[in-house]
Order: sequence, then C-alpha cells, then structure tokens
Amino acid sequence: MRLHAVSDHDTEATADVVVIGGGQAGLAAGYYLRRSGLSFVILDAEPAAGGAWQHAWDSLTLFSPARYSSLPGRMMPGDDATMPSRDDVVAYLDAYERRYELPVERNVRVDRVQDADDGLLVLAGARRWHASAVISATGSWSAPHIPQLPGADRFAGLQLHSARYRTPAPFAGKRVAVVGGGNSGAQILAELSRHTETVWMTERPPRFMADDVDGRVLFDAATAARNALRQGDRDAARGVGGLGDIVMLPSVKDARQRGVLVATSAPVALDRDGARRADGSREPLDAIVWCTGFRPATRHLADLEVLDAGGRTPVEGTRCVEEPRLWMLGYGDWTGFASATLIGVGRSARATVAEIVASLSQERRIAR
Ligand code: FAD
Repeated sequence: MRLHAVSDHDTEATADVVVIGGGQAGLAAGYYLRRSGLSFVILDAEPAAGGAWQHAWDSLTLFSPARYSSLPGRMMPGDDATMPSRDDVVAYLDAYERRYELPVERNVRVDRVQDADDGLLVLAGARRWHASAVISATGSWSAPHIPQLPGADRFAGLQLHSARYRTPAPFAGKRVAVVGGGNSGAQILAELSRHTETVWMTERPPRFMADDVDGRVLFDAATAARNALRQGDRDAARGVGGLGDIVMLPSVKDARQRGVLVATSAPVALDRDGARRADGSREPLDAIVWCTGFRPATRHLADLEVLDAGGRTPVEGTRCVEEPRLWMLGYGDWTGFASATLIGVGRSARATVAEIVASLSQERRIAR
C-alpha cells in the first residue's frame, strides 16, 4: 500500500480497497483480498483483535462446535463435543490475523466515508485513505438497540444492554427483568437466575431449537431451506429454525430444568421501580438487562446518503445499490445468508472480493 506523509500528524494513503472493521467479517475479507493482488488495508477501532467477541460476557459460548465456527482457510481449534468460549474465539481471531499477516491498522475509528473524484475518501481523525472500493464490516455491537418506553427516564434501577453485560455480580440481591427472547436473552437469563431473582419478558413467545440441535445442525438445515427456497420449494423451508432461534446450550437446558425459562409479555412502560405490561399487570423491578438486539453500526457511512432509518442500505448481494463502490459485509441475512456468523461470513466475503476484483479490472480496462 502506497503511503505518503502530507504533514507530521496527517497521513494520506491510497489503496485499491479499504476494509472498515477488523472483526470476523473484516478478517474474512482480508483472507480473500490477500490473494487478489489488490492493495488493501483493514482499519479497526479496537486496540486488539477479536471484534465484538472481546466485549461479550464472560460465560458466552458459541452455539456451534469449532468445526462449524471457522473462517476460510483455518479451522478453529477444538472438537465437536465442546462449544468454544468467548476467549477461544478471540484467541482464534487474533491468531488468524497474524497467520495471514493481514494489514490491520488498530485504534483507527473511521468517522466518515465521502464521495471523491478518484473514488471514495475514508476519514479517521486527521488521516485519509483514497480507495477505489470500500468494504464496511463494522458489525452491530457498537449499535445496541433499546426500545424507548414511556417512563424510561424515571426508572431508578440499574439498566444495561446485553452488549455491556459481563457477569451477574452487579445484580446480586436485585429483582431483574431480562427483556428479549433470543439467544442473548436466554443465555443471560440462564446465568442471572442462578444468582438472583429474575423475570423474563419477551415481545413474542420465544422459539427453542430441539435439544439435540446445535448451531451446526441449525446451519445445515437453514442452508438446505435457503437452497430449497431458491428452487421455489416453499414447503421445505417451513418449520426450519432460524439463526435467531434459541439453541438449547447446557446452561439454557439447566434453566429450563429449574423452571425459570418461562417468558411473560414484554414491558410497554416503566416507572420508578417497575415495568407495566399491555394487560395492565406490573412487575416490581430493581434492574433490567435489555437483550433487544442491535442495529448495524453504519454511522460512518452517513455522508454517502445511502442509509435508511435503521442503518441499512439496499444491496445486490453485498454491493450497495446506491453507491456501487461500497460493499456491506457481515451484517446478517440482509447482506448474505448467515453472514453474521463465523461460518457464514466466509461465503459472503469470497463473493464480495470476487465482485470487487471484477469491477476494478473492468474499470481499469476501460480507463486504458
Ligand atoms: P464485529 O465482531 O462487531 O467487529 C466489527 C469491528 O469493526 C469491531 O472491531 C469494531 O471495533 C470495528 N468498528 C466498528 N465501527 C468502526 C469504525 N467506524 N471504524 C473502525 N472500526 C470500526 N456468531 C457465530 O458465528 N456463532 C455463534 O455461536 C454466535 N453466538 C452469538 C451469541 C450472541 C449472544 C451474540 C450477540 C452473537 C453471536 N454470534 C455468533 C454473532 C457474532 O458474535 C457477531 O455476528 C460477530 O461478532 C459479527 O462479526 P463482525 O466482524 O461483523 O462484527
């Protein structure tokens, strides 16, 4: 990558491709870019490798065994009997980045991406990169979503989003609502309920996978369903769980055994020390853990004026329809089936890099 200093603290660089985000998605893109012959750099806001995984709660485990949780080219260590822990995933991503000598520049938070004459301009503080193509792979961890309920500002208890949850310690002796019916909600409820009084509140009845189904079966079934849908066989897709359905990890099975895996309806308003449901019933509470999901972390793309209110943008595959020099990677099914999973993002990354290579070589052929 060609780098020329403009002044002491400003640097301006040029690369064929700038990847914004060095989590699993950015690294998967790096794996294929490294083989493409294009110059590229991966800019990541974190001081260390591991993307969102380094911020997950201490007891988080994957819902699929290592073999089903690997990025292209390198298997995650582990056997089919154990689900890798958060720390295993962080160590794997760190080793992956080093193994493929990926050009990750850390502690670089991209503020904005702008339309420039010679391509796209990527700005981070005083630093600038001119790129012919940009891959946004910033995940969603830094964009947690908490529903804005009436009275939320009056609630005097502890509140935090699952993205900030680490251990049950701060909740000891409190009556805690876990709000949200996905994997985060089930796993955090399972843990908290061993340490304090909990109540589970969900918008709709949670969907549980069968006990013998873990991420690998889920992934195979969901892949088969997707392929059947592609052939127009709607029946084959019916009944197959989605990646958001709750995988019955040992901790979640234990919670069911203890009778705490019972969902009640979601809060519609808060007051000083409790929550009210639509049916008028009230739940006295000391604390709330919001397991209410995330939005894509895409604020850095605002200047391109391609985002909708939810932070998404229409894509063809992963290519932004309104800005064809921008690709979106790893944000979940809207950017490629299972692309928010370790095993799924590899396929999206391969297709994304192949499309960029084809697009830039065509552009350069025309320019000659
Ligand atoms: P991230 O991991 O969030 O990485 C994005 C990177 O971009 C971060 O390093 C961030 O600092 C950086 N960044 C963000 N904005 C900027 C910016 N403006 N400038 C520079 N850098 C920026 N997936 C699985 O495959 N298997 C599982 O079993 C599994 N279990 C899960 C369980 C739970 C409870 C949750 C919540 C998720 C689970 N996931 C699982 C999903 C997985 O954790 C995420 O989808 C994955 O971390 C997304 O990877 P990513 O690279 O897209 O984003």
